[in-house]
Amino acid sequence: MFENLSERLGSVFDRLTKQGALTDDDVATALREVRVAFLEADVSLAVARDFVAKVQAKASGQQVTKSVTPGQQVVKIVHDELIKVLAGEGEADALKIDNPPATILMVGLQGSGKTTTTAKLAKRLKERMGKRVLIASLDTNRPAAMEQLAILATQVGVDSLPIVKGQTAVQIAKRAKTQAAMGGYDVVFLDTAGRLHIDQVLMDEIQAVRDIAEPRETLLVVDGLTGQDAVNVATEFDGKVGISGVVLTRMDGDGRGGAALSMRAVTGKPIRFVGLGEKMDALETFEAERVAGRILG
Ligand code: GDP
Repeated sequence: MFENLSERLGSVFDRLTKQGALTDDDVATALREVRVAFLEADVSLAVARDFVAKVQAKASGQQVTKSVTPGQQVVKIVHDELIKVLAGEGEADALKIDNPPATILMVGLQGSGKTTTTAKLAKRLKERMGKRVLIASLDTNRPAAMEQLAILATQVGVDSLPIVKGQTAVQIAKRAKTQAAMGGYDVVFLDTAGRLHIDQVLMDEIQAVRDIAEPRETLLVVDGLTGQDAVNVATEFDGKVGISGVVLTRMDGDGRGGAALSMRAVTGKPIRFVGLGEKMDALETFEAERVAGRILG
């Protein structure tokens, strides 16, 4: 997921830790290389700059350069700052599904992995938390997408809302809420329609659904391979419909991983899960410490 970044940082830190005594200049040189490595991983410029400035401030002066293991001290500071930039401040990362039925609204562009992620989350909630899950597709433009969700629901062993032709997204959302309440479900997922680009029609539809559905969570699914674009998409969705968290998909690919580093700092929203493949189990919760560990190798 972060192979290239990890390799680049590894060689910078190798040199630093082998060096013994360090001057402020040595640290500054290493941090310039960290910045370049971040930019190559498609981390946003502002985030990369801010990150390096924070590490520099903590590493400068007597404490680090005079310590017994100056290189390792710098690596430790980088590690701690990485966790901060990945996790942001506080906020529980578990999905809020108390007080059933909880509605989870799934939003995102077409092809981002929204339908797949909906099924993966449904499976997780059912198997790991014993929840009764209902999923509904609101993609009235693409009957194939509705059928795809129904097939995935069967595959992961949860119920899907029966497809009724000719209903609008809002009508389906209402029906799903009623069904969830009457059927004793704990969670209902509403998989909204996606489009290739963000447009007003899409946003209007999601807003109308959101107003009816009153979701506990609105999760944006974005393709992690698209780097800074993923962060831009998140900023737009959050501004227009409000999101509570992000799922980054295709993090199994050889993408540059920058979206993971910029997302929280730029949008203020937490990454909740990462998609790591097409299989229904290929989903992990996003844990800053583990991710920082992977980046630093
Ligand atoms: P949607 O249009 O947003 O609903 O996208 P889909 O859920 O239909 O996913 C589009 C394609 O991406 C499918 O072939 C999925 O199997 C694939 N996909 C989804 N998530 C992941 C992931 O985390 N990793 C990989 N490698 N493929 C994924």
